[in-house]
Amino acid sequence: MKAMAVVPGKPNSIHLADLPEPSVDDVPDGRGVLVEVLCVGVDGTDKEINDAEYGDAPEGYDFLVTGHESFGRVLEVGPNVRDLEPGDYVVATVRRPGSSIYDKIGTYDMTTDETYFERGINLRHGYLTERYVDDPEYIVKVPAALKDVGVLLEPTSVAEKGIEQVYEIQRRLKVWRPERAAVVGAGTLGLLATLILRLRGLEVTTLARTEPPTLNSELVEALGARYVSTRRTPLKEAAEEYGPFDIIFEATGVSSVAFESMEALGKNGVLLLTGISGGDRTVEVPGDHIMLGFVLGNKVAVGSVNANRIYFERGVQDMALAEAQYPGWLGRLLTHPVQGLESYEEMIRLLTKEKSAIKVFVEVNGHR
Ligand code: BGC
Ligand code: ZN
Repeated sequence: MKAMAVVPGKPNSIHLADLPEPSVDDVPDGRGVLVEVLCVGVDGTDKEINDAEYGDAPEGYDFLVTGHESFGRVLEVGPNVRDLEPGDYVVATVRRPGSSIYDKIGTYDMTTDETYFERGINLRHGYLTERYVDDPEYIVKVPAALKDVGVLLEPTSVAEKGIEQVYEIQRRLKVWRPERAAVVGAGTLGLLATLILRLRGLEVTTLARTEPPTLNSELVEALGARYVSTRRTPLKEAAEEYGPFDIIFEATGVSSVAFESMEALGKNGVLLLTGISGGDRTVEVPGDHIMLGFVLGNKVAVGSVNANRIYFERGVQDMALAEAQYPGWLGRLLTHPVQGLESYEEMIRLLTKEKSAIKVFVEVNGHR
């Protein structure tokens, strides 16, 4: 069976590999779910993996099958699988449990283990292949009505998790009623965060470098949010004009932006950091200012990674709500399809060079 893979540690090694056929029996206790992969989205993590900045092969392999944003259809289930049946559309979660207490209660996204296992990213093969098998615990059903946008569920789950962290943290305030949020970054994650915050009724300002109009700025405005180019209005000025921001959702992965966001955050606010900064940049920051603002303003900064199945389920609900409230909006994010696993060079080219791309995705079995 074909698979798109990289050789970890070797830059630009993406190639077509051969994987043994999976079977429902690969999962113990009759709990196997065999899934036909229909569509897989790619993001900055895949870029970093192909640049050899990130990712390791599973034990016994010298390659890692990539792809963590999956969408597929169930082909076959083991005798002890109850909630899924052949024909169901599904998305699989990414991380698999390690050994910390958080892993043991299903919150593997909160693991404290040094080593973490993520399908398509670290130590576990991903979904850029024809079929995969897994335990139903890690497979989330998607209604057929969302089948054309289901591939966006994994990035949606990452945004859902982050926003849930913010609300959980703010229970400390007893009466928290957030009014204004800023989202920094207008790529897939920033756009999905804008969507979720709008669905929660917040006034949202989404900031990115590029001057409008772009598809990204149009998508922001289609949600009734405000798009601001940081070339014209830096974040700090935007906070004075459109804030105070109760929430800032950082979705760029640029560390200087994280510190700028600390300065721009409103009193009692929460800064949520979700961007993955793969590099090793050093930045100079107005430390005293930031610290004083945090202390006198009772502010919080929190990091958030990955998502467990609860956030995938919440993502399904919000995607359905999005289709009702902003029909067709999600589909507009799927800008750049690539046909088949053989098109790995085209996929990487679009991912690294195509400035207008929002979501690049591979249609694996001829349809999505
Ligand atoms: C994935 C997450 C993952 C993170 C860190 C992101 O691109 O969407 O599921 O936890 O990378 O590896
Ligand atoms: Zn990702």
